[in-house]
Amino acid sequence: MEHVDTIVVGAGVAGLTAARLLTKAGRRVVVLEARDRVGGRVWTDRADGVATDLGASWIHGIADSPVAAAAEAFGMRMTEFTVGGYQPDSRPIASYGPDGARLTDAEAAAFADDIHAVDATLLEVVAASAPDASYRDVTETAIARHDWDDERAQRVREYLEHRTEEQYGAWIEHLAAHGLDDDSIAGDEVVFPDGYDALPIALAQGLDIRLEHVVSRVDWGAGATVTTARGGFTADEVVITVPVGVLQSGEFVIAPALPEPVAGALGRLRMNAFEKVFLRFPAVFWDADVYAIRQQGPEGRRWHSWYDLTAVHGEPTLLTFAAGPAAIETRTWTPDQVAASVLEQLRRLFGDAVPEPTRIHLTAWQDDPFARGSYAYMTVGSTTADHDDLATPVGGVLHLAGEATWTDDPATVAAALLSGHRAAENITGRSIPIEELWSSRFS
Ligand SMILES: Cc1cc2nc3c(=O)[nH]c(=O)nc-3n(C[C@H](O)[C@H](O)[C@H](O)COP(=O)(O)OP(=O)(O)OC[C@H]3O[C@@H](n4cnc5c(N)ncnc54)[C@H](O)[C@@H]3O)c2cc1C
Repeated sequence: MEHVDTIVVGAGVAGLTAARLLTKAGRRVVVLEARDRVGGRVWTDRADGVATDLGASWIHGIADSPVAAAAEAFGMRMTEFTVGGYQPDSRPIASYGPDGARLTDAEAAAFADDIHAVDATLLEVVAASAPDASYRDVTETAIARHDWDDERAQRVREYLEHRTEEQYGAWIEHLAAHGLDDDSIAGDEVVFPDGYDALPIALAQGLDIRLEHVVSRVDWGAGATVTTARGGFTADEVVITVPVGVLQSGEFVIAPALPEPVAGALGRLRMNAFEKVFLRFPAVFWDADVYAIRQQGPEGRRWHSWYDLTAVHGEPTLLTFAAGPAAIETRTWTPDQVAASVLEQLRRLFGDAVPEPTRIHLTAWQDDPFARGSYAYMTVGSTTADHDDLATPVGGVLHLAGEATWTDDPATVAAALLSGHRAAENITGRSIPIEELWSSRFS
């Protein structure tokens, strides 16, 4: 059985970050990765010659972002695209009312003001909420503070439902009141016209990564033994970065079982339902100067937001999300069925101007055995501390890392990266400047 200092399970951004920093610190590290590629939930498709990010695409705010710093150091081109946080305004957005008519600028501004008015009180309402309150509960309290008629309140309620779906891939009643607390955006948001996968590919350079090594079991005590279908490995410590859904499945056994507080925290997080739908068209039929198109009212139940990726892809492309209930409902639909449903909505807004798409791409993260969803959300009853608790070192041997283990902006690439950095610091017992991750050489 091969013995190394540290085994890292998973070659996503968290695992690659930990492995890179530990290797630079002089440790012998092996990364065991189930897939035939690195990157995990950062995955760029280039099947038709265009870089399409099927997993993460945004840096949600480049100010002080280690992901932005790494991307810059690795020479990745970035394009500003500041609507990834489901903002109600700040960039041009074409909003359509429940009747399918475009809102005037004044109507759109008044609507955005209502959202800002609710958001202004929300943190305070959330802070005062009961431990078992849902995001629905707190948003209802915040809406009720305003003397709005039913129609006006319903538009805001709907927006908050859709924001929850797009940010967390969860229905608003299933997300904890604190579930969006840490969803802050500092500075512009950007996407990567050449693909986000350049980040994990750069992080992987020079590492000992064993692809197509599916880990089924980690036994720990004085050191650890990791079992894969291709044989076992032993190490002094193991960094486990598989998604929460994999940890919760019977397919990944940790023995002895994880102790508290790790086990409790793990039980309160859940993988979401969130899929991307890319529609490429022969020509642009929407207003070319908008970042996004939004649909209000009951017609927006499944499809309410479309993002114009034309400037990013160089081809007329709209991205929409099957998020939360819509992702669960459409999980068994074919890409053509999903496209037909999306097009029905678009034709309600744009009529016969909507041509048949030339390409449809639908993701299937819910059915991916090594992801089991797109990212984790806080179920009702969980606390923000659950994220950090998940990363509590176990027995000096096990170190959990990954997006779900980081409290500030979990569910992001930044969270994954920072959690990998923390695991490396915990293992080496010293503070490591984050810049070591992208400085060019192994020392
Ligand atoms: C559709 C979608 C959109 C997103 N949008 C954004 C966005 O715009 N911005 C943003 O910042 N974040 C976004 N995210 C979230 C972001 O992609 C993740 O938070 C981040 O990539 C997670 O990194 P990680 O290293 O924690 O996990 P992963 O990337 O999942 O890495 C874990 C690795 O473990 C491997 N693995 C799993 N099981 C096993 C096993 N049994 N044995 C061995 N290896 C195993 C996996 O294959 C994977 O490579 C999005 C995610 C998705 C899916």
